[in-house]
Amino acid sequence: MTTPLNNIQDFFTHLPPTPSHYLTTIHNKRLWIKRDDMNDSEIQGNKLRKLKAILLTAALQQRALLSFGGAYSNHIAALAAAGKRFDLTTLGVIRGEELADPNRQNATLKTAQANGMQLHFVSRSEYRHKAKGKTVQQLTKDNPTWWIIPEGGSNQHALVGTSNIIDEIVTDKTIPTPDTLFCACGTGATLAGILQGAVRHGLHDMRVVGVPVLKGADFLYDTIRAFNPRVDNLNWSLQLNAHAGGYGKTPSELLTFIAWFQQTFAVPLEPIYTGKLCHAVFTLAKQSDSKAEDWLIYHSGGLQGNQ
Ligand SMILES: *Cc1c(COP(=O)(O)O)cnc(C)c1O
Repeated sequence: MTTPLNNIQDFFTHLPPTPSHYLTTIHNKRLWIKRDDMNDSEIQGNKLRKLKAILLTAALQQRALLSFGGAYSNHIAALAAAGKRFDLTTLGVIRGEELADPNRQNATLKTAQANGMQLHFVSRSEYRHKAKGKTVQQLTKDNPTWWIIPEGGSNQHALVGTSNIIDEIVTDKTIPTPDTLFCACGTGATLAGILQGAVRHGLHDMRVVGVPVLKGADFLYDTIRAFNPRVDNLNWSLQLNAHAGGYGKTPSELLTFIAWFQQTFAVPLEPIYTGKLCHAVFTLAKQSDSKAEDWLIYHSGGLQGNQ
């Protein structure tokens, strides 16, 4: 008999590493990109990696998964698709009660519901309280075994899968071990997992740079340390000025860069995370000295948001 647990184990066992390839050279910085947008069209990018241990644990313990997100959340999209594929019960608590009106729902929310996710729409003030909000309190009182997953799928389990990004990079013979690795940051769980992988492989010389897409994201230094106390031995930092105005802001300069990038390299980007990430890396390369180095951009996916 196949169970959700067998199916999830089987899926991750057979999931191939994502490819990486060369882009261009700027000021002797050879730029490469690791294409996690190619791991899965529905449960895409870093969201698939973050869900790995969460899905396995939920199936093992036979628990439903309740999580949070805004109307365009890549995590909600991924969790709903995973629930459908692996036969797990999923619930989404969505920011904005006006979205209960089907006429106001975008493709992300419609697809999540079509994938069987039960959505609960809450006001912005209630949403801010997350698991302590009255809707979640009531739901989990009636169903105490439901597992509450933070926004973005960002709990300690998420680091299991995101640390695998480093396992793949060090074993990929088609690319050099990078001097610098760049990734986009929202909650910081992806960066924390990458740093955990770097610790495991003893990559103390590799520089890791997180590019937050939120304005004023220096709190992420504490978040990352809280996830992963061993990171103090690593060479890592946050590029705090590459948010292009703040979360969800898409100034025309950014959109022009994304159009140019897609045209030039035939790599799709989206404006919330990977567009800002690539723009930041190209800007840093142009400002850099002439030392020859390999820089690797981690493409975290998120293309469902383009629909
Ligand atoms: C969610 C998301 C991120 C942010 O990941 P965190 O682990 O929250 O930092 C980055 N890129 C894409 C495409 C995402 O969907």
